Amino acid sequence: MQLAAYACDPAQSRGRRYPEVAAPTRTEYQRDRDRIVHSTAFRRLVYKTQVFLNHEGDLFRTRLTHSLEVAQLGRSIARALALNEDLVEAIALAHDLGHTPFGHAGQDTLNACMAEHGGFEHNLQSLRVVDALEERYPLFDGLNLTFETREGILKHCAQSNAEKLEALAPAHPDGRGDVGQRFLARTQPSLEAQLCNLADEIAYNAHDIDDGVRSGLITLEQLQAVPLVAHFHQQTLEEHPQLQGRRVLYESIRRMLSAQVYDVIAATQAALQQAAPASVDEARHCEALLRFSPAMRAQSLELKRFLMKNLYRHPQVMDMTAKAKTMVQELFAAYLAAPQEMAPSFAARASIHGQPRTVADYIAGMTDRFAAREHERLTGRKLWG
Ligand code: MG
Repeated sequence: MQLAAYACDPAQSRGRRYPEVAAPTRTEYQRDRDRIVHSTAFRRLVYKTQVFLNHEGDLFRTRLTHSLEVAQLGRSIARALALNEDLVEAIALAHDLGHTPFGHAGQDTLNACMAEHGGFEHNLQSLRVVDALEERYPLFDGLNLTFETREGILKHCAQSNAEKLEALAPAHPDGRGDVGQRFLARTQPSLEAQLCNLADEIAYNAHDIDDGVRSGLITLEQLQAVPLVAHFHQQTLEEHPQLQGRRVLYESIRRMLSAQVYDVIAATQAALQQAAPASVDEARHCEALLRFSPAMRAQSLELKRFLMKNLYRHPQVMDMTAKAKTMVQELFAAYLAAPQEMAPSFAARASIHGQPRTVADYIAGMTDRFAAREHERLTGRKLWG
């Protein structure tokens, strides 16, 4: 398919940190995607919590299935906008690689533990996984991904971290800087990266309703207070008055998902037409062009507020959050006091990367169940599972 002038072209990639010979049959972004799928961190996503702990039920999303859904939504929107689908897929599959065990609770706790040592941000950690922590190649650490994939993975980052990244990056021959530069220059990432952010949001809003209702923590009746859900629920029942049970939920969510996808496509097409970027770099200097219409943005915000109040802060989820916090705090303290308790490869890294950062890397890479087992081994207390 013919890509738009503002789509990332693998032949024009700003390249890899360690130059490599081109692959005979795959583009640079296809190679990135393949490297991500074969990475250790990617396989671990299957045992990492999104909202529900992995052991709470086999049918809930994990970070792996979430990432696959983001990739699917992303690709489908990319194709309609003539953006680069392979790049979107690579970024989507890698976007959560830096997430700690136990979802946001794990990450917030690790950030608090690292307060005196540079903090912990999951987006920066995702980049750290693909740049430094994966050990698969003879000549370099990390996966040596292209600039465009790395830039998309680093979704957000604090100014201070952007400065550190730029200071550490080898000087780029064209003087354009590395992936932290756009935070310093306040430009946008590629349209493919912008798309992944929106696809992420569309995916979790929908699947958290699905998982939330199926877990019994929220109900479809409660969701009638959210106009976006109520509208498609109503529409479903009007067209299928006999429909019952899960099919009502699935059909309502399916319609809601489609409406958001078509809304993003239409709103973005209009924005692209108006801004008319003639190249990837011109698109970076526009405001964010991937977008919902103002009406859909407002509805999506309302849904997020509902999920925050009723699902993410549900007493049962909060109980898990409290346990996760204790486990991560105590694991951090235990490894800091006894680094030899970490896997040998990490124990050896501590002298190079500093002990707190190495402990944070080690904990961040754990699956929920491994973290819980390690916590039990090191403290003698069983909090989970
Ligand atoms: Mg995500």
